[in-house]
Amino acid sequence: MTSTYTGPVVSVVAPVYDEEILLPEFYRRTIAALEQLQVPFELILVNDGSHDSSGTIMDRIHEADPRVKVIHFSRNFGHQIAITAGTDHATGQSVAVIDSDLQDPPEVIIDMFRKWQEGFQVIYGVRAQREGETAFKRFTASMFYRLIRRITNINLPLDTGDFRLMDQRVVAAMSKMREHHRFMRGLSVWVGFKQTGVKYNRDARSAGITKYPFRKMLRFALDAITSFSYLPLQLATYTGFAIAGLSAIAMIIAIVLRLANSDIFYGQATTLVSVLFLGGIQLIFLGIIGEYLGRIYDEVKRRPLYIVAERRGVEEPNIE
Ligand code: UDP
Ligand code: MG
Repeated sequence: MTSTYTGPVVSVVAPVYDEEILLPEFYRRTIAALEQLQVPFELILVNDGSHDSSGTIMDRIHEADPRVKVIHFSRNFGHQIAITAGTDHATGQSVAVIDSDLQDPPEVIIDMFRKWQEGFQVIYGVRAQREGETAFKRFTASMFYRLIRRITNINLPLDTGDFRLMDQRVVAAMSKMREHHRFMRGLSVWVGFKQTGVKYNRDARSAGITKYPFRKMLRFALDAITSFSYLPLQLATYTGFAIAGLSAIAMIIAIVLRLANSDIFYGQATTLVSVLFLGGIQLIFLGIIGEYLGRIYDEVKRRPLYIVAERRGVEEPNIE
């Protein structure tokens, strides 16, 4: 970029959903970290339909510090959509995405920024340690990352979240993808570019509760898998071949046994069990097809990803 560039060099995007207790501290620590960079920056807070006083606090912060910009959604659209809205509105040459609950230490942005200056275009945070999270959450998260790597063709780095810093070109490429069931960290790998990671310790939430209960985590995992893999659909074909093959063998055995006057396959139980078994398998695959079909339906409706109720300090971006 030219030396006459006056816009922000770094934009930091943070989704906020009912984080009133943590917001002031988040603002303080993030600004302190960004000031160390000694370049112009902006902090974009996306209010994802908070029900508490987060929105008012955000407006107050914006009034006192115009480097902080605020986007209020008309309702809760979800974490991944909130991140998307933030990056849509970001004008910086580099854009960082960070959770507003202080689980991602804002100071790590400094390391990420240095890597960006070295020429990397996606710098993702790698969770070296996760504190204060249940063994169950850590186990399911670790299984999730390993599963995604196995069954999709994107090389998702292990134990990374949405905490990352991206070059403006990466953000531009990502903002062209308007899919509704968004798995942002997958998309940011999918676009390519020069990627690297920085290790950090993921802190415990110092206040408030997680907005990702098990049900939402499951949805999120399904979105991730269906966004990047057809494997669940193909499983139907494989299972079909396997069952058809086994049945062919069983058929021959049954004929031979019948010719030998054996009564092993006599009775209804065998018939009943095999019919129910196949019925179950068919329903499972019908459900899997449904998961994809529902997502296709969501896409063809072409609804906007989010609805902004109010913008403070940012212009409506020119997208699509
Ligand atoms: N969040 C959001 N919308 C939602 C849920 C969460 O904007 O519907 C924000 C939340 O305020 C936080 C971040 O996304 O800054 C991550 O959420 P959370 O900490 O609840 O998830 P976890 O860290 O437990 O996976
Ligand atoms: Mg969190």
